[in-house]
Amino acid sequence: MDQTKKVKRAVKGRLLPWFSVNKRSMPWRNNRTPYRVWISELMLQQTRVDQATPYFHRFMKRFPSLKSLAEASQEEVLKMWEGLGYYSRARNLHKAARIIRSDHKGRFPSDADEIIKLPGIGSYTAAAIGSLAFNLDMAVLDGNVIRVLSRLFAYDKDTRSTIAKKKLQSLADELLVKGEAGNFNEAMMELGATVCLPQNPDCSGCPLARCCLGKETGTPTDFPKKAPKKKVPHIIVGAAVVTNGKGEVLVAQRRAEDMLGGLWEFPGGKQEAGETIQECIARELNEELGIHIKVGEFLVKVKHAYSHFTMDLHTYFATIKSGLPKAVECQNFQWLEISKLRKLPYSKADLKIIDELENND
Ligand code: SF4
Repeated sequence: MDQTKKVKRAVKGRLLPWFSVNKRSMPWRNNRTPYRVWISELMLQQTRVDQATPYFHRFMKRFPSLKSLAEASQEEVLKMWEGLGYYSRARNLHKAARIIRSDHKGRFPSDADEIIKLPGIGSYTAAAIGSLAFNLDMAVLDGNVIRVLSRLFAYDKDTRSTIAKKKLQSLADELLVKGEAGNFNEAMMELGATVCLPQNPDCSGCPLARCCLGKETGTPTDFPKKAPKKKVPHIIVGAAVVTNGKGEVLVAQRRAEDMLGGLWEFPGGKQEAGETIQECIARELNEELGIHIKVGEFLVKVKHAYSHFTMDLHTYFATIKSGLPKAVECQNFQWLEISKLRKLPYSKADLKIIDELENND
């Protein structure tokens, strides 16, 4: 019998029964609605279950329904997403909720072609919502499923390549148990998350062990094959905590089209060649807010890694020498007391500056 048939048989006969006994309890597995599936899937794309759970509860408390999400401001949505990263997901989530309200009478579309048209919903999220909320026969391919499949088939191509993704998607589509897509997808993801772990797969406790070619090689952790990641650039950024003598500091809102768009920050930017960090901060504040500043004492250096670069963020206190702030290269600005800073949404790096200011206060 060919490998696909063997695995298909084992999935139906052993994986699904294993899942019904071993599935973990998760808040979004109760009271399953398309809205709850959507939010949980987006959160789980960037964090583990234990980290996503408090965010999910907080989000559902503030926005218990699609209607409440569509009615909120983008800033409120970003605030609830604060700390999760990938803020374009939060902005798209908000846009999609408004489209569902205007174009679908407030009901989540149940058709695969309509689901994938919504902003921020790619093939993975569409398959997750389609299968889990509407039981459409759509197979999910996430990191866990890629690992499980590449081991089951001892698949030796670079799994980051487009060819490999297509191949693994077609394998997942073939293995999918028709009419039980939700269970199938969750079982595959659960196996990857709890048994077929990246470093220490528990092959002896695995319901698919008897048909796993990766296990047969004796070194299942050789799969999935991945080409080494390219080294990401490192940048130096300067930022200012501008004070006004009234116990307030200046924060600026990033432009919608920029990275971290809509979030608030301590103004600043990337150091250019030949500049000291103080010169960089002074230049950036002039460009962003049209003010001339005097850079004062050092406050904190924050290290942060994004997916495509890493940065050291050097933060200094500053005062205005001349000019009044204007939103030149930012969307908006505000003077706020330190105790009120947290009412706005920020990136993780700026939250660390706020921690430092609160400790200093
Ligand atoms: S037998 Fe081992 S390597 Fe194969 S799917 Fe199960 S846990 Fe993963």
